[in-house]
Amino acid sequence: MGIKVAKFGGSSVSDAIQLAKVKEIIDYDPNRRYVVVSAPGKRFNEDNKITDLLYLCKAHIDHNVSYDQIFQVICDRYVGIEYNLGVNVNLQQEFNEINNNLKSGASADYIASRGEYLNAILIAAYLGYDFVDTAGLIQFDERGKLQNEKTNTALREELLKHEKAVIPGFYGTYPDGKIKTFSRGGSDITGSLVARAVNADVYENWTDVSGFLMADPRIVKQAKPISTISYKELRELSYMGASVLHEDAIYPVRAADIPINIRNTNEPKAPGTTITAEAGPKDDTIISGIAGNKDFTVIGIYKNMMNEDKGFVRRLLEILENYDVPLEHMPSGIDTISIVIADKNLNGKLDDIIEEIQRALLPDTIDVHHKMALIATVGSGMAKRYGVSAKLFTALSDVGVNVRMIDQGSSEMNIIIGVENKDFETAIKAIYSAFVETPVK
Ligand code: ASP
Repeated sequence: MGIKVAKFGGSSVSDAIQLAKVKEIIDYDPNRRYVVVSAPGKRFNEDNKITDLLYLCKAHIDHNVSYDQIFQVICDRYVGIEYNLGVNVNLQQEFNEINNNLKSGASADYIASRGEYLNAILIAAYLGYDFVDTAGLIQFDERGKLQNEKTNTALREELLKHEKAVIPGFYGTYPDGKIKTFSRGGSDITGSLVARAVNADVYENWTDVSGFLMADPRIVKQAKPISTISYKELRELSYMGASVLHEDAIYPVRAADIPINIRNTNEPKAPGTTITAEAGPKDDTIISGIAGNKDFTVIGIYKNMMNEDKGFVRRLLEILENYDVPLEHMPSGIDTISIVIADKNLNGKLDDIIEEIQRALLPDTIDVHHKMALIATVGSGMAKRYGVSAKLFTALSDVGVNVRMIDQGSSEMNIIIGVENKDFETAIKAIYSAFVETPVK
């Protein structure tokens, strides 16, 4: 078995109790040679994430308000972990340096990055691994764009020198050496870059859930875990709001054909979900998951001979572009076209958009449907299989759900339906029950 890269998220490294679990996981498998860590996250619901407190320090400095108390809370948290782990890494010296840098105007990215930096130093000592900083290894250009190939080479060269290492997540450096962080949750990306650089067999992403579930457990109580899913299927699901992993973490490992395994630090025996390039063999279910969101607006446009009106769709899309409103879906007929927009993106622009459509496109009618929900039923097993749509729509009609819109991607990997918000939960339960509880043969 080859190398495993294990990335532990904030809740897995939030205190010494969690870190004892991490050590057990690492010690259990000597192939877990490279460990990427987040900053300490919440220990309980009302707790603070260290990263949030670090940003708060910076906000205080920017407003000329004393940050000493918050900084002390941060230091105390690390000292507590150091003490409880029984290691000694001279954190005081690090705290002094960070504080001096803060006083001399260090950036928000620098201060935020210290959460992972300090934690990695502590955890390296605790596990008996080398500490390898990513400053100078994970490289961005002047405009903040990640330099994938340079990063890959630099990480590889450095990590080859270390049999076992703990690496801080979340940041790298600009060409001038200043710290640049990824967006929030970005330690997932560091883990993915490290996995690619050391050519790992698997990128394990340890968090506080045992992988993805086939449906939202608040709607389907006994939703089954997804054991294997392809990157493409996951995109279709995460797009609808089922994301556990930072989106950008997928690309480095996907390019190198390395699977990601989502695991639970609190339930290490559970196999979790494996994300692979191709969907693995499915059991007796043909769908991988169901995800959806409420609160969309559908604008239905009817114009006789629309299909002959060249440039109609382009002009329609231009209107949305001019109002800076992203489009979710666009199902169409011969003389009709509907545009589906998430309410959160409309920002009071609906009336103006409709007026503009009326003025620029002279449609025969426009009707607007509010409070719509979209539900994506996703699974590569659906492609080239007959009876799937029949089953889906029968299940919905059996529970009295009126399907207002249908959109099937050309990949045949998903069927997206629009229903009224009030039917959202009923529809998801019905689809789940039809495909998962009574599998198609
Ligand atoms: N600590 C950072 C955050 O809270 C990065 C991460 O945990 O992935 O966003």
